[in-house]
Amino acid sequence: VKKLRLILGDQLNHKHSWFDENDKDVIYFMAEMRQETDYVVQHIQKVIGFFEAMRNFADWLEERGHFVIYYDLNHPDNKQELSKNLNQLIKAHQVEKFEYQLPDEYRLDQQLKQFCDTVTLDTEAYDTQHFLTSRTDLEDFFKGKKTFTMEYFYRDMRKKYNMMMLTDKDPEGGKWNFDQSNRKKWSGKPEIPHERGFRKDVSQTLKCINEAGIKTIGMVDETSFNWPTSRADSLSVLNYFCENLLVHFGDYQDAMDPDQVYLFHSRLSFAMNSKMLHPLEVIEKVIDYWRENRNQIDISQIEGFVRQILGWREYMRGIYWMKMPEYRTTNTLENHNKLPDFYWTAETKMNCLHHAIKQSLNHAYAHHIQRLMITGNYALLTQTHPDEVDEWYLGIYIDAIEWVEITNTRGMSQFADGGLVATKPYVSSGSYINKMSNYCKSCEYTASKKTGDNACPFNSLYWNFLFEKREHFKNNQRMNMMMSLLDKKDPDDLQELVDRAQEIIKNPQNF
Ligand code: FAD
Ligand code: SF4
Repeated sequence: VKKLRLILGDQLNHKHSWFDENDKDVIYFMAEMRQETDYVVQHIQKVIGFFEAMRNFADWLEERGHFVIYYDLNHPDNKQELSKNLNQLIKAHQVEKFEYQLPDEYRLDQQLKQFCDTVTLDTEAYDTQHFLTSRTDLEDFFKGKKTFTMEYFYRDMRKKYNMMMLTDKDPEGGKWNFDQSNRKKWSGKPEIPHERGFRKDVSQTLKCINEAGIKTIGMVDETSFNWPTSRADSLSVLNYFCENLLVHFGDYQDAMDPDQVYLFHSRLSFAMNSKMLHPLEVIEKVIDYWRENRNQIDISQIEGFVRQILGWREYMRGIYWMKMPEYRTTNTLENHNKLPDFYWTAETKMNCLHHAIKQSLNHAYAHHIQRLMITGNYALLTQTHPDEVDEWYLGIYIDAIEWVEITNTRGMSQFADGGLVATKPYVSSGSYINKMSNYCKSCEYTASKKTGDNACPFNSLYWNFLFEKREHFKNNQRMNMMMSLLDKKDPDDLQELVDRAQEIIKNPQNF
């Protein structure tokens, strides 16, 4: 039977069982399409990263003797839309069966289901063989429960996969979670090794994108592209992480510095989200490395890393499939403001935002706490519409694919799902940012000041947020302490904070 097998841009799984055997009746099809570059305005490095990785993957398949049809963006037969491309190929090659791997995005999942409904030939969907849970495992795990606490799911995954377990019930190190010891500020020491970067020439791919007139955001150095785009690259980033960064990963996981883009973070999200790396091989490699170097690396450095991948990453995917498509329109806090223009220029006097945004525009990267407690925090405090926030996050980061972007943005960061993912909103005043980062000491504003011209804008925004959204939090026990502090505020002081916050929300460009 003549088969057409589709491989999407984030399905670059070298270990998929499809590729175990060569079959002369199978055509593999990959395409760079406008439907994927244009559905949201994306960072130029994200578009380049995916195209380069897809091209390398197609080359790898061909080297192994598979037959591949690859449409680059400007290929004359490329109809730029998935169904049209598939229909054309089915006709041209007398295809008798169409096969695809289950997409991770709801949008593509729907598109392919509809496509299969319209064609007369046999169709079959395969698992991507990437994740450690199925689409519905999380929903099954929490069946009948009102709250979906990630920690319980994570513990179950630790047991199920026998990861860092002393016995089948007890975790190694005597506790499940070492987050308490993961909160150090970085003050110039220990020295941060240079990232395992790359200096790839991507000028041809960039030219092709520019010729097509694709609208993008951010910057790229076309002779020095810095991301892994093949399996070999990805493995070398993983090795480098184990050998150089893991030793301090936990300690400085939440730290922020204006001159340090990556600190001790792994930079593995793009390699994993495109499936060049399997999450299990990442976790196993890290645990093995730790076991071999236990005298140098404390368990607190690696537990958090394992939790992010075995716990959070799988959890977010489960939430996505449990709640889509409704998730996309949730806005529990009824926020309606626009995202300020400086999210696309980094032109703001607020030093933390300036650096976190500039770094995102330059590198298509920010680490978790920058995304959550700087850009996300400000967007939530200024009561920005979650659609605006989602669009920005989906565009700007090289690792942004909707299943993991929207759950982190709408859920964890913007509390738009009403507390499904996060039990309380991740908001803070300037004091948290000052405690965890080196941004405040060179800022025009003073983190400890609440009112007056040079008072940190996060302070008034924070109290104004609690004040304006108090109805939403009245039954949230985790907000009790904050709400009782709000109640104790002197009314005149509170009014002053609210007035200043309103001014910031109305005229963000002045701050
Ligand atoms: P490290 O800090 O080295 O962590 C290791 C790995 O753990 C990551 O590569 C990632 O695969 C996984 N991980 C860590 N935190 C999370 C999390 N909260 N959810 C899922 N996986 C996690 N991650 C994405 O992959 N794509 C996104 O589009 C994305 N959008 C985000 C938006 C917001 C508002 C926030 C707060 C977080 C978002 N994250 C997203 C999660 C996290 O910020 C990134 O995975 C991480 O910064 C990637 O950098 P790294 O590989 O150096 O991570
Ligand atoms: Fe950001 Fe406020 Fe610190 Fe300035 S003082 S860097 S605005 S938290």
